[in-house]
Amino acid sequence: MSEKIPYKIYLSESELPKEWYNVRADMKNKPAPLLNPATKKPCTAEELSHVFCDELVKQELDDTNAYIPIPNAIREFYKMYRPAPLVRAYCLEKKLGTPAKIYYKFEGNNTSGSHKLNSAIAQAYYAKEQGLKGVTTETGAGQWGTALSMACSYFDLDCQVYMVKVSYEQKPFRREVIRTYGAKITPSPSDTTEVGRKILAEFPGTGGSLGCAISEAVEAATKQEGYRYVLGSVLNQVLLHQTVIGLETMTAMDKYGIKPDVIIGCAGGGSNLGGLISPFMGRKLRGEADYHFIAVEPASCPSLTRGKYVYDFCDTGHVCPLAKMYTLGSEFMPSPNHAGGLRYHGMSSVLSQLYDDGLLEARSVEQTSVFKAAQEFARVEGILPAPESSHAIKVAIDEALKCKETGEEKTILFGLTGTGYFDMYAYKAFNDGTMSDYIPTDDEIAASLAKTPKI
Ligand SMILES: *Cc1c(COP(=O)(O)O)cnc(C)c1O
Repeated sequence: MSEKIPYKIYLSESELPKEWYNVRADMKNKPAPLLNPATKKPCTAEELSHVFCDELVKQELDDTNAYIPIPNAIREFYKMYRPAPLVRAYCLEKKLGTPAKIYYKFEGNNTSGSHKLNSAIAQAYYAKEQGLKGVTTETGAGQWGTALSMACSYFDLDCQVYMVKVSYEQKPFRREVIRTYGAKITPSPSDTTEVGRKILAEFPGTGGSLGCAISEAVEAATKQEGYRYVLGSVLNQVLLHQTVIGLETMTAMDKYGIKPDVIIGCAGGGSNLGGLISPFMGRKLRGEADYHFIAVEPASCPSLTRGKYVYDFCDTGHVCPLAKMYTLGSEFMPSPNHAGGLRYHGMSSVLSQLYDDGLLEARSVEQTSVFKAAQEFARVEGILPAPESSHAIKVAIDEALKCKETGEEKTILFGLTGTGYFDMYAYKAFNDGTMSDYIPTDDEIAASLAKTPKI
């Protein structure tokens, strides 16, 4: 097409998706079901409904309906910050001197600073519809806690957040944002739950982990009348809500006749990557088009590239259902790196299955190379990226530089999941030259994998 592609492609409100897309409907090999840890049998809707909201349980178990309508109240909320822009990174292309065309979908345009609000608002809505009093959750880096506190205050729901202790201490400003939205926030592990007290007794002085905060939040939900637990990643329902990212991107690209060759996203629990690639993966699965998908994870927490595809616990306290996923073992304690949102030991069952089927590539990248890419991007594109997002930037730049060598004019698309304003200690370490690249040894990974349950 001759018309020049604008720097930013904005869709109109009416182009905001009316349905989420459920990629499971088009997958030949469905993701394995969640198992009850006591019986080792697939969890029934009834069992799951003790922990999760009813409507979300339905979405979790739905492997057949390709499109799920987005309720109006959620679309109204989305309109405050969506559709999100699709940006052509002309300035980065020029700086790299690459013939590649680079696009990114920017999800940092809301106070949570990330894509997490897309699912938080949906989960809060269904909790409200069910007449619940409130929800409990965990947060690592703080983006999910912020997003959920925003969503709960909008629907007037009580919100209790267990925040991984190291982040609680390192990110006092995150904490204050969450409190401003009226949520109650507790550093985890804490003495407010049985599982927290047990972990504290076993590992005194621990800085906590996501797996342990999840256990505390689940316990808090099941012990209070009218409360349910909500999770910001990993689950099928979360990936489903995040498909607004991919659907908007696809609409914007189709409108301008752009076809991405490579689609890249960072992968923590897999929700933004799954949300971005789902509609494109649907086309690939139906044989309508082909794309090269790349999941990028930190070398310090490499679930896809060095983990095993087995049933594992989702949390340290072993109170959650078992999920079949690429995992490093639920007791894997990632080194305290600076991409908090990517420090989960497992990976979405949907992405795990797609990866196992060879439909998705995975790469792991080291922390300092990620920040180098973040800096390069920030200096020309005018956005200070989140460390998590910068994993995708790093591989997008690598791919663009490959094109420079080969002369290929590939179209590269990546997800820019958020901004990094609360990650200034990480940027400081990078700028001071004190940042390290910790990579777990094979023995460390084998030791935690040895503790996965025998199914
Ligand atoms: C949470 C988070 C991620 C990783 O979570 P996924 O579920 O893998 O998407 C990535 N980027 C940002 C900015 C986040 O807050």
